[in-house]
Amino acid sequence: MNRKKYIATPSMTNQIMKEHHLTFKKSLGQNFLIDVNILENIIKHAGIDKETAVIEIGPGIGALTEQLAIHAEQVVAYEIDQRLLPILNHTLQDYTNIHVIHQDILKADVSQMIKERFRPNQPVQLVANLPYYITTPILMKLLQEKLPLSSITVMIQKEVADRMAAAPNSKAYGSLSLAVQYYTEAEVVMTVPKSVFMPQPNVDSSILKLTLRENPPIEVADEDFLFSLIRASFVQRRKTLRNNLNRFLKDKYDKEDISSILAAAGIDGSRRGESLNMQEFATLANEFTAIDG
Ligand code: SAM
Repeated sequence: MNRKKYIATPSMTNQIMKEHHLTFKKSLGQNFLIDVNILENIIKHAGIDKETAVIEIGPGIGALTEQLAIHAEQVVAYEIDQRLLPILNHTLQDYTNIHVIHQDILKADVSQMIKERFRPNQPVQLVANLPYYITTPILMKLLQEKLPLSSITVMIQKEVADRMAAAPNSKAYGSLSLAVQYYTEAEVVMTVPKSVFMPQPNVDSSILKLTLRENPPIEVADEDFLFSLIRASFVQRRKTLRNNLNRFLKDKYDKEDISSILAAAGIDGSRRGESLNMQEFATLANEFTAIDG
């Protein structure tokens, strides 16, 4: 059988780089995937089929894009590096279901693109091997914009994936875990060795799957205040909740207010922020909002 040579192999990647006189840009987080098995794992965990529209961030020379095009109905990929556009035209020439947009994902109107390019009610998934220098801003932008995505499956630094999926009372749990889990159910599906990238990154990686919630897991009167409260509770992790709140909400609330709000929420102020779950933060935030109100 004449098996097609995929982009995601060390020899094809080297050949493409050489042919196009391309060098890796470290500043853009360019670590390309060179292992088809890993890509198949990403696609399997994402749960993509021929009905699915996929958004990819950072196609590079097309290693993941190619596999997505094989499994999905269509793929729209955002790439910031102008040098890669003619290369992608060449490496992905056999596929008619890929559209590459030359844009910084942080500046892109993804919601508008979805309306223009995808069928109404089509399942949309985001899949990417993200540039590690901006993992968190990218994911928070996508979540806060409340895009109609069913899931997000991404390769990111292991340490960040662990923080996003962490449960209370663990070292990795913090404001990032709560921010991500407010919008999604987060699961680290696989850890990945450095050897599947070219060049190899300095840090370990994981595949993180975020399944978007239809509604937040808790009811909260003021979302922005909830997140400021959460951030305040983790500023000094070793300090008690009461100490952090007294210090970081002092412009708005005095110590007596904070003590009585903690009591009304049924939360012991001598606990640490890391021991509170999302429901407890919501109860506390709602007590603060109620006295403002
Ligand atoms: N998907 C390819 C792969 O797996 O081999 C490349 C992944 S590489 C880790 C990250 C890609 O994101 C690079 O192609 C880089 O140029 C691109 N990139 C970096 N910052 C970006 C941004 N702000 N918007 C869009 N793409 C970006």
